[in-house]
Amino acid sequence: LIAFLLYLFYLVPPIGQLVQGGVQLQQGLAAMKRINEIESLPAEPATPVGAVAGVEPVGVTFEDVVFRYGDDRPIVHAGVSFEVPPGGLTALVGPSGAGKSTVFGLLERFYDHQGGTITIGGRDIRDWPLGELRAALGYVEQDAPVLAGTLRENLLFAAQDATEDELRRAIVRTRLDDLVERLPEGLETAVGHRGVLLSGGERQRVAIARALLRRPRLLLLDEATSQLDAVNELRLREVIAEVAEETTVLVIAHRLSTVTNADRIVVMEAGGVRAVGTHGSLVGDDDLYRELAATQFLVS
Ligand code: ADP
Ligand code: MG
Repeated sequence: LIAFLLYLFYLVPPIGQLVQGGVQLQQGLAAMKRINEIESLPAEPATPVGAVAGVEPVGVTFEDVVFRYGDDRPIVHAGVSFEVPPGGLTALVGPSGAGKSTVFGLLERFYDHQGGTITIGGRDIRDWPLGELRAALGYVEQDAPVLAGTLRENLLFAAQDATEDELRRAIVRTRLDDLVERLPEGLETAVGHRGVLLSGGERQRVAIARALLRRPRLLLLDEATSQLDAVNELRLREVIAEVAEETTVLVIAHRLSTVTNADRIVVMEAGGVRAVGTHGSLVGDDDLYRELAATQFLVS
């Protein structure tokens, strides 16, 4: 949650500005009003669902990465190496404390590694201008909160410039269209704390849609650990598979249905990479993986 708050108020420039100045807020509201007006115009020719114009997915490499949270802290990553090609779905799995979430923290540069090399899109992570790096990444934290306000505000929160068309597309891609239809005032319904309560599965998909609207070249998804019902589980699986067709998705997986679909799985243990493979190969080759699969990966 702390990482998320940092992310919201400090790292995403438009939000920082929004918080600092009422002027931008007014502009934002004006933009939303315009969006409402646009809604009543005839529909444009249909864009293929899921298409994101001009956004190339990026790959990631970790090479002997060493990291600890502080000089007096134990080592978290003791020479972590793995490779994620551009596009497709890669799952990170492993017991609690293995260092999975720390991988995301390093990719977002919430922290800097002390040894080895991390590249994104073939470029050393230290050579990326920070703003450009964070604009390229979408980050869906574990148990991402629903913010105060309407569903529309929740979705456009970090993408005020998204068009109505992009908004609709993100809703369809994340299977939120049913929810929008069911809500008394559709997108204008207040959700979360003071409004309609969303289920865990819906919250997660709202968070994914919010991240997608920023057109990420790499989507980092720390799956919620809470149980989903069968319908929501299936939807999530479809959404992740579809998103992975157009951008790189790196998911810290907490459910078997996500993992079985992955193009590759990186098994982490005690600050290292223990094995890399597919569900089929790892079930045969790796005891720890088999154990995790037997418990459905429901570990934090
Ligand atoms: P995982 O996501 O695989 O459960 P994490 O990457 O969250 O593992 O944590 C790996 C190790 O780093 C754990 O021992 C954890 O206690 C420690 N750790 C995580 N975040 C911090 C932090 N902000 N400060 C200090 N230690 C941390
Ligand atoms: Mg974690």
